Amino acid sequence: MGRVLIIGAGGVGTVVAHKMASLPEVFEDIMLASRTKSKCDAIARNIGNDRIKTAQVDADNVPELVELINGFKPDLVVNVALPYQDLTIMDACLECKVSYLDTANYEPKDEAKFEYKWQWAYQERFKEAGLTAILGCGFDPGVTSIFTAHAAKHVFDEIHYLDIVDCNGGDHGKAFATNFNPEINIREVTQKGKFWENGDWVLTEPHEIHKPLNYPNIGEKESYLIYHEELESLVKNYPTIKRARFWMTFGQEYLTHLRVIQNIGMASIEPINYEGKEIVPIQFLKAVLPAPETLGDNYIGETSIGCRIRGVKDGEEKTYYIYNNCKHQDAFKETGTQAVSYTTGVPATIGAMMFLQDKWKKPGVFNVEEFNPDPFMEQLNKLGLPWNEIHDADIEL
Ligand code: NDP
Repeated sequence: MGRVLIIGAGGVGTVVAHKMASLPEVFEDIMLASRTKSKCDAIARNIGNDRIKTAQVDADNVPELVELINGFKPDLVVNVALPYQDLTIMDACLECKVSYLDTANYEPKDEAKFEYKWQWAYQERFKEAGLTAILGCGFDPGVTSIFTAHAAKHVFDEIHYLDIVDCNGGDHGKAFATNFNPEINIREVTQKGKFWENGDWVLTEPHEIHKPLNYPNIGEKESYLIYHEELESLVKNYPTIKRARFWMTFGQEYLTHLRVIQNIGMASIEPINYEGKEIVPIQFLKAVLPAPETLGDNYIGETSIGCRIRGVKDGEEKTYYIYNNCKHQDAFKETGTQAVSYTTGVPATIGAMMFLQDKWKKPGVFNVEEFNPDPFMEQLNKLGLPWNEIHDADIEL
């Protein structure tokens, strides 16, 4: 049915390549390209059957991207490199007249700032070119946004309160490691907290607000209010929302390490001079931490991510909780990666499928909640991320 170019061969790229290769009726031709070609080759070898072509590309470099895209002629480019590359890949897609999908919004390298404004600014150019850009199609953002769209379409007349809750109840056995790219992860969790209330953003100190929340099949976990990018598009697309927050669980051990890393300056994104060479401390730290794609081996436990919503239906107040639990070991058995990479890579694959099947295809730049959630929700159940619902219970909201 279609040709897809995947850019990025980390934990998420590994899952996307595996999943797409297992769906030949949708993904006829697949190329996996990244900065380090040997990583692409290793993934392709693991999958076997010569299903995946590989290539080297520096995705910061538009002419290199253009040459690669024009050579392979994909219908869609799936960007699972880093958020820094979003704009260069979008530029190359426009030049080559190819549609685009990613899982994380653009952030500049020299400023840890998550905002859609840079990518939303491409709206007119994608529209005029008749191309589709699908933004934030991982789990969060991604499935959490589609869960909200599903709730808005099928469960509520108006959504008033939204808590997105992200629990990793797993244990990888390492003293400290991050479940996705360490640099992006540490930048995300050390920034100030932010939530939406009564038409405005409320800022908090990092990890200032926290409380225990109960997660299905996992139990009670201390959960911290952090800012997460889907809040920005969800409050725009669902203006009835009075309050929107994002909660993530962190273990004490993780937080202690994080505090030390920050206190000794290793989380800094400011370049320093070390023995005549300029290095960025957080990039050096990434080089010594375990790579996310190597965490799967002994990872036990599961993730539980979902949306807790309060709103009205037919004039009555109601609550709704929709979530997915994913076991690290199941993810590892299927793709050789842990559940955080899995829960990101599967939705990216489904988003690409939606595009190739013309179910999510319209000119312009869109967040995932702006598409029909129904066919996507159906595929979640089929492709390894089944969802569960709880109606009208106490959802701690
Ligand atoms: P990794 O660090 O494991 O992988 C990133 C890959 O991108 C690596 O293969 C890396 O190459 C490659 N890359 C980096 N820079 C370039 C470049 N300039 N040119 C070409 N390739 C490049 O990250 P993850 O797989 O964990 O995450 C991938 C993306 O998914 C990130 O954007 C992350 O923010 C996002 N994500 C989204 C989630 C969601 O739910 N929405 C959850 C988790 C992650 P090399 O191997 O040479 O370093």
